[in-house]
Amino acid sequence: MNYYCCRFLIPFALVASIFGCRADTSPPLKIVTTFSILQDFVREIGKDKVVISIVGPNSDAHTYQPTPRDVRQIAQADLIFINGLGFEGWIHRLIKSSGYKVNIVTATDGSQPMMINDPGEGAVPDPHAWNDIKNVKIYVKNIYTSLSKLDPEQAPFYRKNYEDYLAKLEDLDQFIVNAIKEIPQKKRIIITAHDAFGYYGQRYGVKFLAPVGTSTADEPSPKAMASLIDVIQAHKIKMIFVENITNKKLIQQLSEETGIQIGEEIFSDALSEKDQPGSTYLAMIRHNTDQFIKAMRLMQPKEECRSSSVYA
Ligand SMILES: [Zn+2]
Repeated sequence: MNYYCCRFLIPFALVASIFGCRADTSPPLKIVTTFSILQDFVREIGKDKVVISIVGPNSDAHTYQPTPRDVRQIAQADLIFINGLGFEGWIHRLIKSSGYKVNIVTATDGSQPMMINDPGEGAVPDPHAWNDIKNVKIYVKNIYTSLSKLDPEQAPFYRKNYEDYLAKLEDLDQFIVNAIKEIPQKKRIIITAHDAFGYYGQRYGVKFLAPVGTSTADEPSPKAMASLIDVIQAHKIKMIFVENITNKKLIQQLSEETGIQIGEEIFSDALSEKDQPGSTYLAMIRHNTDQFIKAMRLMQPKEECRSSSVYA
């Protein structure tokens, strides 16, 4: 946060506003988000606002257990952003039990969720909508609109940040489209720890498989593990991935049983800490894509040994 250009300079308030600094002395808005990726989106649009994330970097929002500190954060919040689509079911219980009236915005409102089959509940939405950049454009539009409504004086500031971020999202989306276009269809299989990349797969044409479903609370079955080993062997997969938020045990077990390597850690449901490669959404998606490309390039389906032209 940089207030230096705003702090002393009432005569320069106009200059400050042009460069996007707050020229008033009102305390910054306090925004609460449920997880670190959403926190990053709100920071991109709100910049100097205080933006808290209940679930921090490298932590799992699926299985999070709220604390008394969370109740205090909620009590002080001007606005709360949640992902919705069943991702952080605990937030509703937390707000209800806190007894506070809060202004709550579901960042995925207006997106088209992918429906998946939950053995216990039937068709339910896949919550990992942020793994498709098209959806992130909806997240940030909802954030921009909500912040502008809450703080109308700063609406042009939020709008500029929103438009700047949209351009960055567009560039990243194009980068991924172009990078994956180079990968033959038969090589587009990636194994991760849980089913967090369905939206990414749908957008970019990659098949993702995992030992557990869309929640890390799911239990893997021996049948699912056996079938993944079959896929690894049949497709000559050479690299599989652990995620920053999940237990590494299942992927380690798969690696031991098949003799293939585990790639660099990828970021699925949370950002990394600042000194790691997924400290922002843009960095996280770029890092994940680089790792996926590396793994897909390593695959050597049998046909390719005879002629690479079959993949042209
Ligand atoms: Zn997840």
